[in-house]
Amino acid sequence: MIEEIDKLDQEVRQSSPQPRVVRPRIIALANQKGGVGKTTTAINLGTALAATGEHVLIVDLDPQGNASTGLGIDRRSRECSTYDVLIGEAGLRQAILPTAVPRLHIAASTMDLSGLELELGTERDRAFRLRNALSALNGTNPDEAAYTYVLVDCPPSLNLITVNAMAAADAILVPLQCEFFALEGLSQLLQTVEQVRSTLNPELTIHGVVLTMFDSRNNLSNQVVADVRQFMGNKVYETMIPRNVRISEAPSHGKPVLVYDLKCAGSEAYLRLATEVIQRERELRAS
Ligand code: ADP
Ligand code: MG
Repeated sequence: MIEEIDKLDQEVRQSSPQPRVVRPRIIALANQKGGVGKTTTAINLGTALAATGEHVLIVDLDPQGNASTGLGIDRRSRECSTYDVLIGEAGLRQAILPTAVPRLHIAASTMDLSGLELELGTERDRAFRLRNALSALNGTNPDEAAYTYVLVDCPPSLNLITVNAMAAADAILVPLQCEFFALEGLSQLLQTVEQVRSTLNPELTIHGVVLTMFDSRNNLSNQVVADVRQFMGNKVYETMIPRNVRISEAPSHGKPVLVYDLKCAGSEAYLRLATEVIQRERELRAS
């Protein structure tokens, strides 16, 4: 599918807006497996980055809308959603809502998004809808602090929505659950990233892999960690997110775990992850 999109979209890419000098770092949270911690990481890494002073926008690209719900965004307030943006009926700014966390905003999603692939059909710019929406956002409102990070929460699939996220992103952050089949899905994901890099987005990199739901008492968890570290080397963040009941309770209260229980092990882990992400960004900029 990606090659086909690339052929169609050569021209569109050439005419699409060039990135500005000052722009947010766009990180897509992707893994075609469901339930591995993408949304949890989007919410809590986003909150932790905002807590350290960054201006963060979460773009919810999962029709399930769990990132939106987990941040306390009522379905009724999602009048304008990422679906409207990708379909071309609204600008991204119109879909952005504030959250209870200072400096953290979200563009919410609705179930409509599940029909996107069919609706966009063979539109020439269909893989670049998010990228174009994000570049139009830059600097359009000079009174507002510009976003320094955009975190894109992808659906559990390597479909057109995820391809849009990969085409728009500077880097991919892969949440990987410490379970037996973790590595199997990873190769397929890396292959897709490689395809996107060689066609739609040559600048795309892997920011890192974060191991989630780690349980040190479980031998399998430890084995998975060892395997993933051997396979992915220093792409794996030092920080591992432990399996933590407070993390799973927080969304039902519409709160990030950092707001629900700042002192729990899950919150501490996400704060450490944010520090590591910022550190990697500095290294990338310096290199
Ligand atoms: P994805 O977005 O990849 O489908 P989620 O972030 O929604 O995955 O996580 C799947 C489920 O696992 C959710 O119910 C979430 O609350 C729970 N969960 C995620 N991370 C943890 C964790 N570290 N400890 C305990 N539960 C977790
Ligand atoms: Mg999710």
